[in-house]
Amino acid sequence: MSDIVRRDVRIEWIRRNRLHPQHNELASAPGPTRGPTGLLRRLPHNVGFIGPNGIRRIDRGAGAQGGAGGLGARALSHSAQTAPLLLHHVEQPDFYVAVVVDIAAGRLSSHDRDVLGQAHRLVRIHADDGQGAVVAIVLGDVREAAFDTAGVDRLIHLTEVNRQPLTGYCPELKLAVLQAVDSELAPRYWLFPDSIHGGADLGARLAARLGERPAVQAWQVDAGQTLCRGGSQHTDWQRPTSRVMLLAEECALAVGETRHEARPIELAAIPQVSPQIQDRGPVEVDPGKIALSQAEFILAAGNGIQDWDQFHQVATALGATEGASRVAVDDGNMPRSRQVGATGTWVTARVYIAAGISGAIQHLQGIRQCDKVVAINLDGGCDMIKRADLSVIGDSRAILAELLALACARRGRSGPGTAPIEGSQEDRHVA
Ligand SMILES: Cc1cc2nc3c(=O)[nH]c(=O)nc-3n(C[C@H](O)[C@H](O)[C@H](O)COP(=O)(O)OP(=O)(O)OC[C@H]3O[C@@H](n4cnc5c(N)ncnc54)[C@H](O)[C@@H]3O)c2cc1C
Repeated sequence: MSDIVRRDVRIEWIRRNRLHPQHNELASAPGPTRGPTGLLRRLPHNVGFIGPNGIRRIDRGAGAQGGAGGLGARALSHSAQTAPLLLHHVEQPDFYVAVVVDIAAGRLSSHDRDVLGQAHRLVRIHADDGQGAVVAIVLGDVREAAFDTAGVDRLIHLTEVNRQPLTGYCPELKLAVLQAVDSELAPRYWLFPDSIHGGADLGARLAARLGERPAVQAWQVDAGQTLCRGGSQHTDWQRPTSRVMLLAEECALAVGETRHEARPIELAAIPQVSPQIQDRGPVEVDPGKIALSQAEFILAAGNGIQDWDQFHQVATALGATEGASRVAVDDGNMPRSRQVGATGTWVTARVYIAAGISGAIQHLQGIRQCDKVVAINLDGGCDMIKRADLSVIGDSRAILAELLALACARRGRSGPGTAPIEGSQEDRHVA
């Protein structure tokens, strides 16, 4: 057979032609491109993906910064929508890797997905010992529907234990479930997101209960050795890989190329516990006193804000922590401690509202790990709008006035107060 490499010009044409019925199928799997000489060529323009309106979208969020979960996660999740994913099927697992997800606000966070990705890495590392399965343990109410594409082979989902609901802060009940899983499935590894949403607390408790020494802030895990971050993230230290691990964000690429069964598992029995900890519900906290790096809901102001009194009122009414662009700080409108970005604070909010911020690369670096970004801007073509999950194009003063009125109406008051509205920043009273 001839060695001459032949280009399929018809397929290349279909890939270029968005209106062709086979376009989606072939464009999502471009394969290597060969030049006229037969050499493999990398197309530097082949970044991002084509949006529904036919315009190329470049991921300016996680992907553009080259984070471990970045380009992979978003670009792949898009290709997941266009091409059917290969089903990863495990009939009789030889061993399990257990992941206890935070499922904060009822959905898998990017941190949860990174940990599930790490679980699959461990399954592959131990492939010589047989076929492993990743079992996700989900405790409490959920709104997430995409466990299959997140890499869950088996799913244990409980909303109550022995008729006691798994709501609020209830580590003793959750620990009882994990102990039941440990005795029934004997997972080879227990993985938790090392986060303030419950993973760090529960992981440490389980490790103590099992008599294991947990690896904390682990970000590079191998069969024998694990690298953990220490010294305020400035140093790395190596330690033997532990059975219980609390993993840092971006410890691995999120699963994106396969679909998994997410087959439910029922636990035979869960030990009875009488909880000593009583959750007395949320308490109000002053969002202004929350460090930017820990805030979950941030309203940030840029050069497009003129009415600073109004901005502070809206932040108070929403219960949001205030952030700012460097221009807003340099102009003396906000303190330096509130600057978000490369030379300010890197934030990890679940919701980040950027009002009158253009989206300079230095600012976008600081919000790379935010889950949902809302942009308020006059300029529909600015980079913040391209990064945002939701955009409001218009004058910030008018939009913030409307937001203030809505927030006040929802709280049933005539003016702004200090209490957070439902779903915003909160702390808990624990007796
Ligand atoms: C070494 C270095 C480090 C840096 N570090 C940081 C950093 O950590 N953080 C940071 O933020 N910046 C940083 N910068 C600065 C950064 O490059 C930008 O200059 C800055 O982020 C721009 O701030 P801005 O978006 O608020 O202002 P502008 O760029 O002036 O943008 C204002 C935006 O507001 C919009 N707007 C105007 N009027 C209205 C209105 N009435 N309603 C709605 N929208 C309106 C405009 O359309 C525009 O998009 C750094 C720069 C350098 C060189």
